[in-house]
Amino acid sequence: MRIELDIKLGFKNVMIRPKRSTLKSRSNVSLERTFKFMHAPKNWSGIPVMAANMDTTGTFEMARALSSHKMFTAIHKHYTIEEWATFLESINDDLYEYIAVSTGTSSTDWDKLNTIINKFPKLRFICIDVANGYSEHFVHFVKQTREQYPDKVIIAGNVVTGEMVEELLLAGADIVKVGIGPGSVCTTRLKTGVGFPQLSAIIECADAAHGLGGQIISDGGCKSPGDVAKAFGGGADFVMLGGMFSGHNESGGELIEVDGEQFKKFYGMSSETAMEKYAGGVAEYRASEGKTVQVPYRGPVADTVQDILGGVRSACTYVGAKKLKELTKRTTFIRVQEQLNEMFEGD
Ligand code: 5GP
Repeated sequence: MRIELDIKLGFKNVMIRPKRSTLKSRSNVSLERTFKFMHAPKNWSGIPVMAANMDTTGTFEMARALSSHKMFTAIHKHYTIEEWATFLESINDDLYEYIAVSTGTSSTDWDKLNTIINKFPKLRFICIDVANGYSEHFVHFVKQTREQYPDKVIIAGNVVTGEMVEELLLAGADIVKVGIGPGSVCTTRLKTGVGFPQLSAIIECADAAHGLGGQIISDGGCKSPGDVAKAFGGGADFVMLGGMFSGHNESGGELIEVDGEQFKKFYGMSSETAMEKYAGGVAEYRASEGKTVQVPYRGPVADTVQDILGGVRSACTYVGAKKLKELTKRTTFIRVQEQLNEMFEGD
């Protein structure tokens, strides 16, 4: 047994220290970024906030809504080929820039991925997603995908440590997804005791990825626009959101009414709810458990988008970052024992 004694930090353990700034208003801040990838040719430009590839957030409807803000959606892996065909017939070329096709690593997943890409070769992004990105089988799957698709942008995850980020990038991933256990409907830490506080994971993984010319996605754990700003401040190139995009018109899942109030179901991709829905297919996808919750119905996602982007823009003005790209180098985190004043909590 070994123990690392330095404390690893989550979003709730820090705040961003304000700095002198010449920016007059948050409207002066640009959140658009352009990335050059480690393997795939061609750049990508957009606002690097993503909807998670859960069947409640990674929906075609979400992709339509988010792409109009130049934001990205990792489409969940449970759509049929026919559903893909209907969706893709109805979109213009721009939208291809803002969606990824997701896959697990079973042989059925591999066959489905190949069928989708062969049928719809304009798809540019592949998201290879497993609960535990530390297995040799996973690294092999990333290599195989890179060999088969030299031109696609490959996202692979999830991991939380620098050496595994390097291994996945060298195996052929362009972007590594970071996060084990921080998710709003994830019970991995409870069930296994395994995990890594998200902000420290971002800092370590971003350093490893940027050293090789790769990127990372911070996946999970953001509860507010401030957390999204902290994730970018810590070095995340992209931030992926599940819970924050749940409960909207564009989110999948049933609308339920309880005592006259409307809710939407939101659940982990390895929760019982998901298992029941995709019986047989999910056990392999997410090894650890997830939970099911009811979130208040929140209408169109556009309002939430405004809220998130407004918050991140404002964070940029507090530290004098004209562009999102500058946020990390202008960020100094302070460790704190308090966050919000809860005097009127619940009012
Ligand atoms: P959130 O933004 O809701 O905090 O986190 C979203 C992320 O949680 C997803 O992108 C995914 O990585 C993770 N996740 C989704 N479902 C499950 C699950 O059932 N179990 C675990 N361990 N993680 C999940």
